[in-house]
Amino acid sequence: MSNLGEIFGSNVFNDAVMKERLPKATYKALQKTITDGLPLDPAVADVVASIMKDWALEKGATHFTHWFQPMTGITAEKHDAFIAPTANGKVIMEFSGKELIKGEPDASSFPSGGIRATFEARGYTAWDCTSPAFIKDDSLCIPTAFCSYTGEALDKKTPLLRSMEALSKQALRVLKALGNTTTSKVITTVGPEQEYFIVDKKTFEQRKDLIFTGRTLFGAKPPKGQELEDHYFGSIKERISAYMKELDEELWKLGIAAKTKHNEVAPAQHELAPIFCTTNIATDHNQLTMDIMKKVALRQDLVCLLHEKPFAGINGSGKHNNWSMATDDGMNLLEPGSTPHDNKQFLVFLCSVIKAVDEYAGLLRVSAANPGNDHRLGANEAPPAIISIFLGEQLQDILEQIEKGGATSSKTGGHMEIGVTTLPALPKDATDRNRTSPFAFTGNKFEFRMCPSSASIAEPNFILNTIVAEVLSEVANRLETAKDVCAEVKAILTEYVTKHKNVVFNGNGYSDEWVAEAERRGLPNIKTTVEATKALIDEKNLAVMEKHGVLSRVEMESRYEIALENYIKTINIEALTMIEMAKRQILPAVIKFATTLAKSITTIKATGIAADLTAQTELLTEVSSLTAALKKNIAVLEEAVDKASNAHGEAYEQAALFRFDVFEKMDALRKVADTLETLVDKDVWPMPTYGDLLFNL
Ligand code: ADP
Ligand code: MG
Repeated sequence: MSNLGEIFGSNVFNDAVMKERLPKATYKALQKTITDGLPLDPAVADVVASIMKDWALEKGATHFTHWFQPMTGITAEKHDAFIAPTANGKVIMEFSGKELIKGEPDASSFPSGGIRATFEARGYTAWDCTSPAFIKDDSLCIPTAFCSYTGEALDKKTPLLRSMEALSKQALRVLKALGNTTTSKVITTVGPEQEYFIVDKKTFEQRKDLIFTGRTLFGAKPPKGQELEDHYFGSIKERISAYMKELDEELWKLGIAAKTKHNEVAPAQHELAPIFCTTNIATDHNQLTMDIMKKVALRQDLVCLLHEKPFAGINGSGKHNNWSMATDDGMNLLEPGSTPHDNKQFLVFLCSVIKAVDEYAGLLRVSAANPGNDHRLGANEAPPAIISIFLGEQLQDILEQIEKGGATSSKTGGHMEIGVTTLPALPKDATDRNRTSPFAFTGNKFEFRMCPSSASIAEPNFILNTIVAEVLSEVANRLETAKDVCAEVKAILTEYVTKHKNVVFNGNGYSDEWVAEAERRGLPNIKTTVEATKALIDEKNLAVMEKHGVLSRVEMESRYEIALENYIKTINIEALTMIEMAKRQILPAVIKFATTLAKSITTIKATGIAADLTAQTELLTEVSSLTAALKKNIAVLEEAVDKASNAHGEAYEQAALFRFDVFEKMDALRKVADTLETLVDKDVWPMPTYGDLLFNL
């Protein structure tokens, strides 16, 4: 590999490139838009476009594309060559400011949740200059927001950008009321840890379920799973290490600060974490990371699985969304300092987050819901479906002091005694970590640990930004009109702690006791995606999103429809794939095996030798009755799919049929097939097993 310093960001039209290549006045004008949010002058765009094009051509690019993030959750791109024909039959390379600023992809085939009928196909992409353009696959990619002809957001980026502005506005009001005169902008920062599985491509290609749905729909438990805990942080195998190296290099070229890589808990599972940055860019980077992860894997005859639950019985994948708020003059607003009890500003922001999470738990829950994550949340590998906050010993103690009338001290960690004199005395953190909480304070940020591995992180972040902005606006209203700001801060803290301490839980989130305790506390426990979607049309939630200009009612309702449609389609595809595999692969294989057994019995009997045939006979009986059950369960599932697919009326009712009827029957079919797998000759089993998939690299 060439010099890391040289390759980092080499395919990005970043600040350094702009500073070097743009005329001073153009650079300044563009910076004003990027940092202060001022509107962009079209003349400036023309200059930027021309210079951006020259830079891209030097890098070997031939095309440009408006890169956007429709409601599918993945990214979209349509490539146009830079060429413009000349009179003499040749071409010149062109790219105008107009082309940079605005694109017009046909929007009719993207999910719109009823915002736009197919005959009104117009959609627009608008340049998001706050996220730098980059080159991928010989195309200059311009990050853009995507909206309908009538101006409604049809993507994940638009609400995210809106929410960042909303949070900045309200956080600034609070800071100002607390006496801060230097900060002029507040941003939210995010570092998403991305989990993924890697399997061999040849094995993958023999599994229709992985091909069509991204997860295994059948598969008996292998003799070894993750019980020895030998994979987590284990030495990285050579093929995986080669993959990680190429992946890192590709990401670095795109300016993505991929930092940490390691083996995860499940066999064949791994994780990548970048260094955190502004939420908007972190979101773009995470979308790119997922895209590049898949592409690099294929190059190396591997397949990267981003599904939340590719394999039953072992851990699935999630994404930990580390989130904080920072000021443009370098303060992390969630940094407690060494004496958090007298850090008024920190406590105000901390308690505002606590209140926001408690009051809008439903919105946070739905922001982490997708069909894949339904297999994880509440299943003792991921946080429960109950939203709660882990604060740790030190902050918990301060909250208790506040409630009793005021905080006067902060517990400290002290030093740790390891008991070996040659080892250094380690300073101890004031608080231990907690791995079972969905929303954990981890030193100077919150870690939202519920997010699905395959989904965009835009939604959890625009929800988080908006609900925190809402509480901050309430705080600002009170502080701005208070006669005595100090007294008002104290009143706010006491009130928030008293009213919202119920959402704080520092114990084991995986335990059954917590589920019971949470119920006593009145915390919602929403187990499925279908039920979670209701939060998107809840009046209080519609109001908060509308108030802060993040999503209008129409936009929220469209997202509700899209979430349900997506659920219906996903489960439908899974069920149809199961039916096809069961009918055309598993059933013929087990019949073949039964026939072999029958033949063995008759052949041995024909010899006239009085051999003991109980093994064959018993096995044949068992396999035959399971085969009959398999056939019956296929028919039952087919009927359920038929009924659910033809259900008319509300999308919610149809989605509920898929969840509570089709999904349950898929499970029943799987159980029978998985038992058969353990009885049948390995050579006739029609697909690679879990053992083949998880332990062959
Ligand atoms: P874990 O111990 O949970 O596995 P990692 O160290 O792998 O954590 O990842 C922590 C993530 O949090 C990294 O992406 C890191 O950049 C990010 N992070 C650190 N500080 C902040 C912050 N102030 N705001 C947002 N993210 C942060
Ligand atoms: Mg983590």
